[in-house]
Amino acid sequence: MNTWDAIVIGAGAAGLSAAQMLGRARRRTLVLDTGAPRNRFAPHMHGVLGHDGMSPGDLLGRGRAEVEAYDVEVRAVAVARVDEGATRVTVTLADGSAESARALVLATGVSDDLPDIPGLAERWGTGVLHCPYCHGWEVRDRRLGVLLVSPHQLHQAQLVRQWSDDVVVFAGMLGAIDPEIARRLHARGVEIVAEPVVEVVGEGTEVTGVRLRDGRVVAVGALFTMGAVRPHDAFVAHLGLARADTPVGSFLEVDAMGRTSSARIWAAGNVVSPMANVPLSMGAGAMAGAAVNAALVEEDFDLAPALYWNGRYADRLWSGRPNRTMVDVVQGLEPGRALDLGCGEGADAIWLAQQGWDATGVDISQTAIDRAQDAARTASIDAHFVVSDLSEAETVGEYDLVTASFFHSPVALDRTGALRRAAARVAPGGRMLIVSHAGPPPWAPAGHGGAHVFLNAADELDALGLDDSDWMVEIAEARPRGATAPDGTSATLDDTVLLVHRRPDVRISSS
Ligand SMILES: Cc1cc2nc3c(=O)[nH]c(=O)nc-3n(C[C@H](O)[C@H](O)[C@H](O)COP(=O)(O)OP(=O)(O)OC[C@H]3O[C@@H](n4cnc5c(N)ncnc54)[C@H](O)[C@@H]3O)c2cc1C
Repeated sequence: MNTWDAIVIGAGAAGLSAAQMLGRARRRTLVLDTGAPRNRFAPHMHGVLGHDGMSPGDLLGRGRAEVEAYDVEVRAVAVARVDEGATRVTVTLADGSAESARALVLATGVSDDLPDIPGLAERWGTGVLHCPYCHGWEVRDRRLGVLLVSPHQLHQAQLVRQWSDDVVVFAGMLGAIDPEIARRLHARGVEIVAEPVVEVVGEGTEVTGVRLRDGRVVAVGALFTMGAVRPHDAFVAHLGLARADTPVGSFLEVDAMGRTSSARIWAAGNVVSPMANVPLSMGAGAMAGAAVNAALVEEDFDLAPALYWNGRYADRLWSGRPNRTMVDVVQGLEPGRALDLGCGEGADAIWLAQQGWDATGVDISQTAIDRAQDAARTASIDAHFVVSDLSEAETVGEYDLVTASFFHSPVALDRTGALRRAAARVAPGGRMLIVSHAGPPPWAPAGHGGAHVFLNAADELDALGLDDSDWMVEIAEARPRGATAPDGTSATLDDTVLLVHRRPDVRISSS
């Protein structure tokens, strides 16, 4: 499975517009499509600024080439099912394979289920038309027929009158027309035929008339009608996304940016808005694409500390040796349960386990924890490792020793909060050891450390806010430590060392 940022289902006007925004926003984007856009029956497309009269296929071909230029992958395959997880959406394809992404855009359009009248379907998009904005100009001033198949279509009958003053409405499939509506139509010279239509007649793809049940043929130069629109969304039905009932059917509900009731699924174009023409579908797709990127940008910032640390640990970072100061302080203590905050690649926790401690290391980086687990396994050491963002997670359990060696971060870390929460989990008689940098290394250029605050032992103690009646301070000092500078010379670093001891008779909360 690839790790896509976004998957777009449907490569029509809406889907390709969403994909174009996502590709240009440098999102790894996959478009899945069955190649059957709604307007594929029409040889020309109108009302699309800058592309008036272009064929629908040419527009989509251009759009596809444009998105591919931004490294978007377009794949000809049907989507069979979509499943939603906490952090990703998984799409199962008709060939049984699966792809997953952080966000999904549905742009699968609709089908027009046409009236079952001989001669009609084969002229759909040429002589039989659905939208006067798209094709009315080309048939203006002809005698225009409107075949009514639903009461909602009376609006279409009125609309067509704008393109011709010779309009005939075929109302036979509806039964009786409301007399008030009939009066309105007659007032503008619209003729109403009550006899049902049994056939659409014409030459090639053009319409020349309709045959009525009584055998008469009424001449028309084009016929407007509607299909029953059916959104292509069955493959998300089991997700229970919110829907809205409209006069033409039930459609997925989306907000102004195109987001459905799912935090990871957007929808755009005809699949949510069957009246949208090509430009409106493009606009909705572009909006959804930008909205997906905006949501992912937010998420990237939310996840930044984990991303940063996984990046830092992409290559082995530390030597695998435990921290010297921690070893010096801890080696005289009676082993019990130990917790190492910000354990990185696990050297301290593994050393603690080797000394007989029941040791658990916690770190935000999955990469570091994987490496720590491998190291423990290889050495047959029973140490436990957990991935957790200590800025947010509650510390659980009770420990005889909590250690935090160089628990600093150049990206967001609620260090004080994490240390305080961990201090609260120190068992009566237990200890907390904090070893941190007292200052920048001597080889660092002037100004090194940026916003980093180097705490001395008194500051560190103040930050912990421990209750004097519960805790005793055993070590609070700066300790020099030998180190090797990057140029290979020997140097001395100062560590801040704070060891606090919880009084044995203290009672702590069991929560
Ligand atoms: C006959 C006709 C003529 C029209 N003429 C015009 C015109 O002149 N001007 C105009 O502005 N508008 C016109 N329209 C309207 C136009 O077709 C729509 O506005 C437009 O197609 C909507 O774009 P879309 O991206 O939402 O859906 P579509 O263009 O229908 O694209 C949806 C895509 O999703 C794919 N898909 C569906 N299900 C799946 C699945 N499960 N897995 C993978 N892919 C899937 C389909 O194959 C298709 O490629 C016309 C419509 C019709 C019916």
